[in-house]
Amino acid sequence: MTTNNLHLYNTLSAQKQKFTPIHAGKVGMYVCGMTVYDYCHIGHARVMVSFDVIYRWLIHLGFDVNYVRNITDIDDKIIARANENGESIFALTDRFIKFMHEDADNLGCLRPALEPKATDFIDKMQGLIKTLESKNFAYQGATGDVYYAVDNFADYGKLSKRKLNEMQAGASERTNVATDKKNPFDFVLWKSAKADEPSETKWQSPWGVGRPGWHIECSAMSTCCLGETFDIHGGGHDLQFPHHENEIAQSEGATGKTYANNWLHVGFVNVDGEKMSKSLNNFFTIRDVLKDFHAETIRFFILSSHYRSPINFSDTALKESHTALSRLYHALKPFDKNDILINNDEKTQFWASEFGQTFTNAMNDDFNTAKATSVLFGAASEINKAVKNGDYEQAKQFAKLLKTLAEPLNIAQSNPNEFLQAIIGEEQGLSKNEILSKIEERKQAKINKNFTLADKIREDLKSQGVELEDTRQGTTWRRV
Ligand SMILES: [Zn+2]
Repeated sequence: MTTNNLHLYNTLSAQKQKFTPIHAGKVGMYVCGMTVYDYCHIGHARVMVSFDVIYRWLIHLGFDVNYVRNITDIDDKIIARANENGESIFALTDRFIKFMHEDADNLGCLRPALEPKATDFIDKMQGLIKTLESKNFAYQGATGDVYYAVDNFADYGKLSKRKLNEMQAGASERTNVATDKKNPFDFVLWKSAKADEPSETKWQSPWGVGRPGWHIECSAMSTCCLGETFDIHGGGHDLQFPHHENEIAQSEGATGKTYANNWLHVGFVNVDGEKMSKSLNNFFTIRDVLKDFHAETIRFFILSSHYRSPINFSDTALKESHTALSRLYHALKPFDKNDILINNDEKTQFWASEFGQTFTNAMNDDFNTAKATSVLFGAASEINKAVKNGDYEQAKQFAKLLKTLAEPLNIAQSNPNEFLQAIIGEEQGLSKNEILSKIEERKQAKINKNFTLADKIREDLKSQGVELEDTRQGTTWRRV
């Protein structure tokens, strides 16, 4: 095992600190996963890819990593969507779990070691709520819902650096909603069932028939899989408050021990400079983006920024990522797969080289993938220089080095020719959607007998490198 010199930014301590695992050589990592009622979007992609690289880097450092990412398969949105569709919640969630796995696989992410589903842990959640009740952290309101009493947890707000009294003052100015909560920031641990809810979303409990609140799911599942105190807890930046704050209140309230030693949060994804949201209609599913861009381009785009910084998602940014990634593949192109088989001795040597050390230092500095990828471009320049000088052996060595260092990022590992072939047209010219809408426009022009317009559309596309062919089955296209 290499010497562990990993430093990470811990949201809890609000500083970068040396990573010290609880058990030498082992890491327990819990990441809040998806609520499975719809397709994953590009914000989910960022969390998946960022923690995939964190996972791979920890493994690279020699740690035995237990990576747990939960699946929320019971929730208001799930119940509402299943009702809308007229199907059972399990039919809905099974389908979207499958789609989530397809998306993550496409993006080159390793599956977590464990993916616990909330509905398999209802007993554990009830056990935790009982403990909280016995320690005066939980109470049942008049409506039958069981709440967490935030006033009784002295450290409430320590993760998000919020003070309860300041939040309360702000909240009381804005809202005055009738509630059976003792404090407006008290949150639901157990929701009592409404009469019209289907039986599959109801469980018996000491507090009546109902279902768990969202926050208690993660406290129960993480502790069952990783123990009462574990090394790393991660998730999207938006989960810091209230979700992660509430997880801490629940778990530390129940055990009296530190819950997670290190908290890692992945930054927001903005779209064309604005926050991505369904209401702004600037929401992209991973599937949508994959229609226009290679999965590795999306992965590379995510890794070109530090995981904590906000990133701006746009066609231009993806095209730039495409160009950058193509540079790596162009450099690797002269070498046959068999030319760059790399043995373990060579790997050790590459990691010990100046390039390897710079890369390692970047990754050990809070997983700075932006800096680490710049080392790969340095290696690509060396390959190109050596090729230009006719020094094939030298070029081959740098090609092996590039592939070795890029491995923990899981980029530049494909066959260069296949990759470059697959991405033709991504960088410039029209996207698939744009081409399809032009074809549709031409079809309409023909229906309207406007053949001049139909011909013009065909010529315009041709000048942009897209050739159409009219067949009996309809119009097909190819890039030329
Ligand atoms: Zn969670």
